[in-house]
Parts: sequence; structure tokens; C-alpha cells
Amino acid sequence: MKIRSPIVSVLGHVDHGKTTLLDYIRGSTIADKEAGGITQHIGATEIPNDTIEEICGNFISRLTIKDLIPGLFFIDTPGHAAFTSLRKRGGALADLAILIVDINDGFKPQTYEALNILKMYKTPFIVVANKIDRIFGWETHEGASFSESFNQQAQSVKQELDLKLYELVGTLHKEGFQSERFDRVSNFASQISIIPISARSGEGIIEVLAMLLGLAQEYLTEQLEINEDAPAKGTILEIKEEVGLGLTVDSIIYDGVLRTNDEIALINSSNEVVTTKIRSILRPLPLEEMRDSKKKFRKLDEVVAAAGIKIAAPNLDDVVSGSPLRVLSEEEDVEEQLLKEIEDITINTEDEGLLVKADTLGSLEAVVKLLRDLNIPIREADIGDVSRRDIINSKIALNENEAHGAIIAFNVDVHPNSLDDLSNSDVKLFKGDVIYQIIEDYQEWTDEIER
Ligand code: GDP
Ligand code: MG
Repeated sequence: MKIRSPIVSVLGHVDHGKTTLLDYIRGSTIADKEAGGITQHIGATEIPNDTIEEICGNFISRLTIKDLIPGLFFIDTPGHAAFTSLRKRGGALADLAILIVDINDGFKPQTYEALNILKMYKTPFIVVANKIDRIFGWETHEGASFSESFNQQAQSVKQELDLKLYELVGTLHKEGFQSERFDRVSNFASQISIIPISARSGEGIIEVLAMLLGLAQEYLTEQLEINEDAPAKGTILEIKEEVGLGLTVDSIIYDGVLRTNDEIALINSSNEVVTTKIRSILRPLPLEEMRDSKKKFRKLDEVVAAAGIKIAAPNLDDVVSGSPLRVLSEEEDVEEQLLKEIEDITINTEDEGLLVKADTLGSLEAVVKLLRDLNIPIREADIGDVSRRDIINSKIALNENEAHGAIIAFNVDVHPNSLDDLSNSDVKLFKGDVIYQIIEDYQEWTDEIER
């Protein structure tokens, strides 16, 4: 048994600072060459333990987990839409999450969305209250811990920060979460920690890293155990054309080992299993080497979880993002297991109900899960744009029950050649990129038609 790095995802509303936070974490550790810096993966950045120890020092001296995990594995593709694609069987791919919110702006639609998704997947998370450097009168202390910088602020500034922070506590309370400023938390099991930071100046990042290790210690030790000889399990982030390589899939491996020439199973847009043989496993070249050569990638013979890699192989054209990836093995019927996994998401549990369309397997799973929690019946759930067939079937459903003539479309469009069909019918479309908003609109509508 080996313990892998916890996979961490950053979620939050657009412009609240996801990219800046990840850039800061990457930048501050790259500068720290002696401690070993970072490992660049495809779609992820891994900060090794000794680097974290160097940065956090006393803040983590009492945490034993730092001697077990290799580091922290940050997913680079931020955004809540991306988060829903980051799935694995039975939950979220991310072991831990950072919910980032602009302290001056408060909760916004995608912040609520992210919180809902974290709640649904029961992912342990911290809240970071970003952009504290914009609080009137704030004196910046580059790279300092929050506590050190806070202690040096004027009284009025301290009060202003707390005022804004307790607004977040109030909002979280309404959403069903107890929370507190991290240094005032009395019970880590029942209270969410809020860490005030500036992703721009780095203030508070020390505490962010330390708290992530704390959460990992509290919740994850067993979940992170992997068998490094077992056939790999992973998730597809994206399908990408690369010059000289053809179609490739970017994926995160969260368990086991993946080797060149391994046969893998994936899922295509028709919910069928596709198998193929890995031609190469690729990782980004370190920045220094990339400058001297035209090549962007280095070939590897094998990788052990956790790893973010690009796979070149034939037969990838119809693979969907969010698809599971499994190495075929003689001991298990992997194809059967994958089909079962897809059926759990897509197969109609009800004879009647509404139609759900979404852009990735992960987002589809999230919408289906949320609807089922609300006891809203689903007739069919599928990936892709809304088609003519979808509209025709919804018309039939509508004749039985008006509420079932609805289509929920998350992050997808209506196919151009079915727009007329839609407008000529009474089928009701609920379309958008914030799941809870679509569902709320749907519920309001059903309340109305039932009246
Ligand atoms: P994202 O959409 O969540 O990835 O947000 P970005 O990281 O792109 O940040 C949006 C804007 O806010 C950019 O102009 C950033 O420079 C700025 N920003 C992010 N973090 C901070 C911060 O801590 N302080 C200040 N003053 N600006 C920030
Ligand atoms: Mg961004």
C-alpha cells in the first residue's frame, strides 16, 4: 500500500480569483528551487511535501499526515463546470476543495452552485475569502501568513475585515453550514474554516496549505491508500488534437499504475465501452527544457497515481469528457463494470419524467443526482445537444403529464435544426450553466402549472 497525494480542486465564481490563487501557489513554489519546487502534470500541479514544509514550517509541525502523503495535487482546470466533469465512481474526483469567494463581493451564483455540488458529493472543503488587499486601508505584507499580516493592520481595518467575513459566515449558515474564521474554529468536524487571503500578494496562502493538510489528516488517510501494482483507474478531462500525435486524451489517474501498451476501456457518446491500446503516456516537459526544444511532452513508460497525463492512442474520437478510464485486467470484467457505472447515471429509473441533457458525463451525473434528491422523476438522461428526437419524445411525454414535457439542458445547446420543432411545440426548455438555477426555475414552473 502506498498513500497518494490528495487531489485538490479550486471552485468559485468567475473573477473571484481561482486562476490567480493557482498561479501564486505554482509561482511561490517554483521560486523555491532548493526544496524541490513542483511537479508539472497535465491538468494539474503537484507540490511535494518538503516544499510545503519549507513554506509552512511551524504551521504544520504537529500534523503527522505530512510524513505520509507525497504532497498536494492541485487540479489546474478551475471552474465549477470543470469540477462536475472531475468525477469518479460514487463521487467527486477531488478529495478536497477550496471554495474561493471575493470577500468584497460575497456569494454569487457560481459560489452557491459550487457549494451545492460540494454538499452533494460530501467533499471536505475550506472557504478562502480572497482579495483582502482591497479592504480599505489594508497594508500588504507579501507572502506573509494571514495572522502575521492581520496583526499589523489598523484597528478599523481589522474590524472591516471581520465585518465582511461574518457576512460570509451568515450566508454559509443559511446554506446549512456552520463556519468560522479559521483561527477561531473550536470544532473542525462541525465548522468550516474561512481563511482570509490575497491571491495576489500571497497573504494567507501559508494557512491555506496548512489547513488542506489538516483536512487531509482528518478525513482522508484511508481514502488515499492506493495499490501501486493494480491496474489504473482514472478520469478523462478532455479530448484534444495534438500536432504530430493525433487525438489524445488528458486524464487524471487516481489509483493504480498505467503503462505504455496497456489496454484501456473508456466510454463514448453512445454510452458504449471503447477499448484501445496506449501508444504513449506523456507529461509536460519542465519549462527550462521546453525552451530548448520544439517538443512539449516527455514520454513515460509508466505512471503511478496520482498523475495527470496525456494519452496517445487510436480509437479516441468519440470518447466523452468525464468518462472513466480503466485498464483492462484478467481478474475483473472491467467492461461490464463500466457499463454498469454508466447505467447508474443514464438509465431511466422511471417510465415517465423529464429529459436531462448535459455536456459531460460528470455534469450529467451531478444534475441527475440533484434531481433524484428532490424526487423529480427522470425519463431519460443523456450527453449532448438537444436533438429533434429529444423534442419529439418530450412532446409525447407532455401529452401524458405537462410537467414531463420539460427538458433540462445543462451547458448544452438546442441543435440548430431542432429550434423550429421546439418553438412549434409546448415543450418547455430549461437551459443554463448553473445547475441549481435551472432546477429552481423548473420547480417554479411546475408549481405554477399545478396551481
Ligand atoms: P477566476 O475567474 O476565478 O480565475 O479569477 P482570476 O484569478 O482570473 O482573477 C480575476 C481578477 O481579479 C484578475 O484581474 C486578478 O488579477 C484579480 N485578483 C485575483 N485575486 C486578487 C487579489 O487577491 N487581490 C486583488 N487586488 N486582485 C485579485
Ligand atoms: Mg480563471
